[in-house]
This record gives sequence, C-alpha cells and structure tokens, in this order.
Amino acid sequence: MKIAVLPGDGIGTEIVAEAVKVLQALDLKFEMETALVGGAAYEAHGHPLPESTLELAKEADAVLFGAVGDWKYDKLDRPLRPEQAVLGLRKNLGLFANFRPAICYDELVGASSLKPELVSGLDILIIRELTGDIYFGQPRGRRTAVDGHFPGAEEAFDTMRYSRPEIERIAHVAFQAARKRSKRVTSVDKANVLETFQLWKDVVTEVGKEYPDVALDHMYVDNAAMQLVKAPKKFDVVVTGNMFGDILSDEAAMLTGSIGMLPSASLNASSQGLYEPSHGSAPDIAGKGIANPLATILSAAMMLRFSLDQPEAADRIESAVKDVLASGLRTVDIFSEGTKKVGTREMGDAVVAAITTTKKITKS
Ligand code: NAD
Repeated sequence: MKIAVLPGDGIGTEIVAEAVKVLQALDLKFEMETALVGGAAYEAHGHPLPESTLELAKEADAVLFGAVGDWKYDKLDRPLRPEQAVLGLRKNLGLFANFRPAICYDELVGASSLKPELVSGLDILIIRELTGDIYFGQPRGRRTAVDGHFPGAEEAFDTMRYSRPEIERIAHVAFQAARKRSKRVTSVDKANVLETFQLWKDVVTEVGKEYPDVALDHMYVDNAAMQLVKAPKKFDVVVTGNMFGDILSDEAAMLTGSIGMLPSASLNASSQGLYEPSHGSAPDIAGKGIANPLATILSAAMMLRFSLDQPEAADRIESAVKDVLASGLRTVDIFSEGTKKVGTREMGDAVVAAITTTKKITKS
C-alpha cells in the first residue's frame, strides 16, 4: 500500500505529521512518500503542483493531503496559486466523488450552533459530485450582452451541465454508501427550475431501481438548506451536484461545531482517493502548535476504509478519537469549560496512546 503524503502549507505540515504518527501506530505495512504541494511547492519549484508531486499522487493508492494556501500568494497569477494544486489533483486523478461526513460527537454537542437536541447523535454523509456542474461547464466568460434586460452591458455567464453517465456514477456511489449505513438516500436538486437537475432527478430515480433495499427521496436544494438546520437528523446519505454540495456540506459542517473535526475523501472510479481535512491552511494559527489534528487523523481513517481496504484499522482510529474526546482533551477550537486544553502534538500523542491501549487489551 503506497500513500503519497502531501502536507502543503500553514498548519498542513503540523496536522499531517500527527496523522502519519497515528498511521504508524497501527502496525500495518505502508510505504509513505512525502512531496511538496501548494505554496511550499511554488517556493521550491515555481509551481503549486510540480510534475513529480503529480506523478507520486498518480502512482499511490491514496493521497493524504494537509492544506494549501496563504494570503501572501493571493497576488500570483491564478494558475500559480496554491489552491490550484487541489483542482489539479482532482482533475488529473478523476476524483469525482467527494464524501463529507458530518458527525456530531456527544462530547462536542455544546460546540454546535444548533440546540443540543437537534444535533446530538447526528451522523450524516454528504456525497458531492466533484468534477462537473457549473464549476466546469463550458462555455463561460465575460462579454457584451446582445439581449436580456440590459443589451450592450458587460455580462458574465457560466454553463451548468451534467451528462447521464456522470449522474449515474455518483448515484451508484451514493446508493452503495447508503447500503453500509441506514439505507436512505436523499437526492438534492433544483428540478423545478433547471433542466440539468431534471435530468439529475430522472437518472438518480432510474439508478435507485437497482437498489430496492435503499429508500430514495428527492428534495429541492432550498428546502434541503432549511431542513439541515431545522431537523438535520432526518438525513442519512445526501447526494447532490458540485455547487449545491459545496454549499450544503459547509452548512452541515457547522452543525458539528468545529471545522477542525471534519474529514473528507475524494474518490475516483478505481477507489483511489485524496483524503484531507475540510478546513484550509489556517495561516492565522500556523506554527503555533495549536491546530486541531483530528480532522486529518479522521481523514486517514477514511483512507484506510475507502482506498486501502482496512476497515478494522479505520474503526480503531475512529474509536481512539472518541476515547480521547471522552477523556476531556481539547484543542483550542473545541475547548470548553471543564475540559483540558492541549496542543496539536499532544492531541496526536493521545490518539496514538488510545490506539496502543486498545491494541494491548485486544492482545491480552
Ligand atoms: P481556514 O479553514 O484555513 O481557517 C478558517 C478558520 O478556522 C481560521 O480561524 C482557522 O484558524 C480555523 N481553523 C481551521 N482549521 C483549524 C484547525 N485544524 N484547528 C483549529 N482551528 C482551525 O480558512 P481560511 O482562513 O478562509 O483560508 C486560509 C487559507 O486556506 C487560504 O489561503 C485558503 O485559500 C486556503 N484553503 C485551502 C483549502 C485546501 O487546501 N483544500 C481549503 C480551504 C481554504
């Protein structure tokens, strides 16, 4: 099993170091190779995604990614900005399925912006299509309007599009994921207004017939946004397009309290994947040793489950994280009265210790 380790910028290096430590504590045989990406790669090689990094990512079974970006690169030409590395990896590896679980741990219920009874026990999985939709559709651009409300004025336009096979493959991913959970899928669309999402709804319905054991319902995106804050526990697996998924997955993230807790996975058709925390490089706290490494550690667990076929090892990491939270340790972003504040490294050490303890108990 080969893992490409791409820590990136800012807190990326600090949090990935902890995830690597946790992987090493599992006693599994991995080959891990580290490479530069983002601003760090730009500084060293003049490009945020150098050819050597891309090659490493392509030949690996999985990529463990930290985060990229820093405000100091905001003035670079767009293709040279650190964030382009993420887009380049998605495109080159064909990572079309983005998994964003939103789990509210009992110990962190108070950190959510919603009432405890609404989020306690929350465990939803948002599956976002990642390589199509209005973010990639052509043509797009700026021009002078020839019609519309203001002919002759400057206008900008984008193209929303999805093909049948693109919808079919993400629908299969969602139904298969639901089979491993409570067998419910909500497909989110805007079929009442958009042709693209009428096709989306039709195709998801057709694919759903191949999964008679999974209950499918459809919801318009405006209602889904509302229901996510009104009664989030109604949802189990949510599948949607690139733009709606972008927005809804961030909304769902906030239900759980801290962005420092949220892992993500982006997979291609052969289960090769890129695993990263949902947050960015947090330049405001980089180098201070206070970043929460748990989202990255939980991303490593997803990597074991989805790309490396090691579900038991994934379970061990996830239960170690729960144990550590139950013991009262908190990084600054999830700290509350009555708990113990720790830094990035101490949090990683605690997860390693929890894994080692369960290993000893299992052996004896
Ligand atoms: P951010 O997610 O980096 O930070 C938002 C806030 O959350 C900050 O206050 C930060 O300190 C805090 N935070 C984030 N992760 C944390 C953690 N693990 N522990 C504790 N606190 C944490 O978003 P931003 O500030 O908007 O962006 C900073 C940079 O990251 C930008 O350059 C942006 O482009 C980049 N970015 C990269 C990715 C990626 O690499 N995939 C994703 C989002 C943003």
